[in-house]
Amino acid sequence: MKYAIGYLRVSTPDQKKYGNSLSTQKNNIEDFCFKNNITLLKIFTEDFSGADFDRPEFLKLLNYLKQNKGEIDLLLIDRQDRFSRNTEHALTMTRKLKKVGVEVNFVSEWIENVNSQEGKLISNIRYTLAELERDKIKKICSMGSRTALKEGRYTKTPPRGFKRSKNQFNKTIIEPNEVANLVKELFVDYAFNIYSQKELLSKYRKKGMSLSKSSLSRMLTNILYAGFIDLKKHDIEPYNLIKGEHKAIISLELYQKVQRVKDNRNTKLKNTKIENENFPLSGFLKCPCCGENLTGSNSNNGNKKKIKKYYFYYECKSKKGCKIRYTANDVHDLLDKELSKLRPNKYIQKLFIDLLIEEYENFNYERLTILKQIDSRILKINELRFSLTEKFVANLIEEDYFKEINRKYVVNKSRLEREKNELGTYQKDLDKLLTFGLNMICNFNLLFKNSTNQLKKRLLGSILEDGLIFSNNNFRTVNYNRAVSLISKLDKGYKQFENKKGDNYKIVSQSVLKVGIEPTHPKVLDFESSSKWFNMYLFVLFFKQLPLF
Ligand SMILES: [Zn+2]
Repeated sequence: MKYAIGYLRVSTPDQKKYGNSLSTQKNNIEDFCFKNNITLLKIFTEDFSGADFDRPEFLKLLNYLKQNKGEIDLLLIDRQDRFSRNTEHALTMTRKLKKVGVEVNFVSEWIENVNSQEGKLISNIRYTLAELERDKIKKICSMGSRTALKEGRYTKTPPRGFKRSKNQFNKTIIEPNEVANLVKELFVDYAFNIYSQKELLSKYRKKGMSLSKSSLSRMLTNILYAGFIDLKKHDIEPYNLIKGEHKAIISLELYQKVQRVKDNRNTKLKNTKIENENFPLSGFLKCPCCGENLTGSNSNNGNKKKIKKYYFYYECKSKKGCKIRYTANDVHDLLDKELSKLRPNKYIQKLFIDLLIEEYENFNYERLTILKQIDSRILKINELRFSLTEKFVANLIEEDYFKEINRKYVVNKSRLEREKNELGTYQKDLDKLLTFGLNMICNFNLLFKNSTNQLKKRLLGSILEDGLIFSNNNFRTVNYNRAVSLISKLDKGYKQFENKKGDNYKIVSQSVLKVGIEPTHPKVLDFESSSKWFNMYLFVLFFKQLPLF
């Protein structure tokens, strides 16, 4: 009787290519042992690449062999490529194991007398052939994919949000898959710059998309999502950006916005040291002379005075000698004035509230569906009770029967009402959201004033298109982003809305008027087609995400 241990290995790409699943390997080894009267003591299962032997399970296996020296005759593996993908490594390991009395062999590619000269030769030839084959496949693959890339077809492993597909000529391309919307949402969230990286990762983990910091970063800089292929990235000359044949998940505009935010964030991270409770505008205020960020600094009224008083300034510390220095309080007061102008008129307020309601209903779709069902069941019970009473009054049913059935209805109804109560903070939550939302867009300056420094920065980051420039005792034109310009009276475009009340307005108000709770917004707000609505939508999202709420 011989004693053996088994070794199984998969790595995800292999499995897809060869269908060499764990269960197949395991069955093959077990079958072999059964037919050849071999006792299988243990099976090690590896999920690791076969490039070398520095694999966690294989190291355990070696340890096991050491501990049970002299008791194991065979190491059984399904096929040679499960053992190693490298001839030299494989042969060295085989020799090493032979020294401790263990023969390596392959149940689906059995080699008779594996340790004889002939056996060694066969084994060697097989490894070499397999290696050649792999190299050849690799080369053909990469040449094919290079040609495809030049033609605008991405044939490599699709990044998250895409899947493989065929074009009309039956050639491989990629197309958005079922998580494409989530990817898009992530870009939108990032563009709005109100989440920290940690919050963003955790939000999307909860939504079922786990990303590491580096995969997030790779994703956000992958222009494939905007429908383009960057030939430089694939080292294909000429180093052009070409339009891909695949459908974009996000617009180029959004992609570029994300790159701007990303660059900004990186510089801001570097400058966190100078961030200070007294300088909420640091990172936003630019020097009117040189355009560099102004830096917060302070001075005091000298050592002689009993009570030390500090003065805070924003100043330009660039080497260009701009000599720009503003008292922080003055700048803050003026910003307050500036922000108090951001008050939308009644029309925009109404529109905004409508959008909030719509968002809220989409957000609470499941809860609302259940509530609706409960309501209709309660209604049904009321009807049944009514007709039961009618029958009783008309002497069509006995009193006992009436009482029994009626009691059942009452019990059922109170159970439903209890359930409804548990779910039914719907209106309260909505009221809270609307009050908050309205308060916020009408009193943005107050909200800003009462925020922590960190939140102030986030608020500013979400309303400003770029930095603030202060000169001659006032802000130069403040560039709010489109959402804010639109909601406030600052954007001339909004007047067109007011006067025209065109299609978009009609669609939105209709959907709001609908008492139904169907998830309407993807259809209603085809926001890519109208950047104005897109921005408005962003603004609504912004409210939902504020830590205050
Ligand atoms: Zn300057």
